[in-house]
Amino acid sequence: MAEGKTAIVTGGSRGIGREVALRLADLGYDIAIVYIGDENEAAETVRDCEAKGVKAKAYVCNVASFEETKAVVAEIRKDFGPLWILVNNAGITRDGLIAFMKEEDWDSVLGVNLKGAFNMIRHTAALFIRNKGGRIVNISSVSGLMGNAGQANYSASKAGIVGLTKSTARELAPKGITCNAVAPGFIRTDMTKNITEDNSELLRTIPLGRMGDVSDVASAVVFLLSSPYITGEVLRVDGGIAM
Ligand code: NAP
Repeated sequence: MAEGKTAIVTGGSRGIGREVALRLADLGYDIAIVYIGDENEAAETVRDCEAKGVKAKAYVCNVASFEETKAVVAEIRKDFGPLWILVNNAGITRDGLIAFMKEEDWDSVLGVNLKGAFNMIRHTAALFIRNKGGRIVNISSVSGLMGNAGQANYSASKAGIVGLTKSTARELAPKGITCNAVAPGFIRTDMTKNITEDNSELLRTIPLGRMGDVSDVASAVVFLLSSPYITGEVLRVDGGIAM
């Protein structure tokens, strides 16, 4: 069923995005990953997807840029078959207390995490509408649902993703296109490399008592991508943190 259909995964070079790309390749989707600069990691994801028998290619693009995302979507459209899936996963942190937060740290986090998702949806929506269907999943965070001291910029961007997801879901539902979000808790990736599980205080905040794996998040993403009657949902994958 996925044969000849294309999935775009932003931030697909590493971490959660890579795992999502590999899972979609397992299902037979051709994979276009978008990343900002880690060429070796991107090449590895492409190789691993191709090894599963699908077409895969990596594109350098700053998702925060309206023009770059417009150009990359046009390029992907030229290189690949009909677009069926968009996973807005690219994200960054620039943590700091709000009383001292630099303007550039606010702008860059909102730019990549929130405007990046808007840019990609903005430039792909017409393609989905033309194809009379499609699936969008945006990666939010429990930080966007609960707030987190030291992460005003990140929390705001991830709360913004929830609003973006629900508005997009309402707008595109009549066209048969779903849009959902996944809100992970603490997942072991480069983004959380400074957090260790020896930190018993952290573990006490997680009812299931452990950090999550990328596969925990990818399973939720794939579930939403394969659910035609779920839209506008925010699915937590957080070991119970935000229940
Ligand atoms: P990660 O390992 O740090 O990977 C980030 C990915 O985003 C990389 O592929 C990176 O590309 C790409 N990226 C960063 N800035 C970009 C930009 N301006 N344009 C295009 N691509 C860009 O992150 P992760 O932990 O897998 O997180 C993935 C998503 O899940 C993020 O949205 C994050 O906020 C969210 N999340 C993560 C956790 C967690 O605990 N890890 C929890 C909640 C939510 P390069 O490889 O080229 O740098």
